[in-house]
Amino acid sequence: MSKVKKVTPSQIRAGKADFPLIGMPLGGQPVISPTKKKSPIFDFPKKFTDDDLRERLTSQQYNVTQKSGTEKAGTGEFYKHKGKGSYLCVVCHEDLFASATKYDSGSGWPSFYDVQSKDSIKLMADTSMMVPRTEVICSQCGAHLGHVFNDGPKETGKRYCINSSSLCFRGEDK
Ligand SMILES: [Zn+2]
Repeated sequence: MSKVKKVTPSQIRAGKADFPLIGMPLGGQPVISPTKKKSPIFDFPKKFTDDDLRERLTSQQYNVTQKSGTEKAGTGEFYKHKGKGSYLCVVCHEDLFASATKYDSGSGWPSFYDVQSKDSIKLMADTSMMVPRTEVICSQCGAHLGHVFNDGPKETGKRYCINSSSLCFRGEDK
C-alpha cells in the first residue's frame, strides 16, 4: 500500500516539498512556468504600475521595454550618441552600460561589449524567431533591453545590441 505524502503550506513556503513547485511564487526565487514563453520568471525588486509607465514613457519606450519590441534600425537617439557617462535603464534608472564600452557595430542599434555589472542584467532564452537568441533584460525591473550576441570585439567577444528606447544617458559631471 502506497502512502501519499502530505505537504503542509509551511513546508511549501520553506521550499521543503519534494516535488517541483510549478508556478508557485517563492520569495525572490525564479519560478518555472511551462505555460509561459519566458522562463524562468523572475521576481524583480523594482515594480511599477502600468499607469505610471504609460505616463512616464513614450509609446515607443513602453513598447520596447514592456512588450519586447524593437526600434527601427538606425533611428534610435543613442545609436550614434557619443559622450562620457553611463547608460541607464529608462524605466528604473539602473546603471547598465558605460560609454567606454560603447562601439560602432554597424548594426543600427547602440552596441556595447560589456555591462557595468553582471548583476544589472539578466539573460533569457528568446525563441521567438527562427534563430534562438539571448534576450537581455534589466535585473531590477525586468525591462526588455535587447539581445546579446557572440560576435563582439576582442575585449569580451560579446555584442550587447540594445534599443535606444530602453536607455537614458547620464553624462559625467566633470
Ligand atoms: Zn530597469
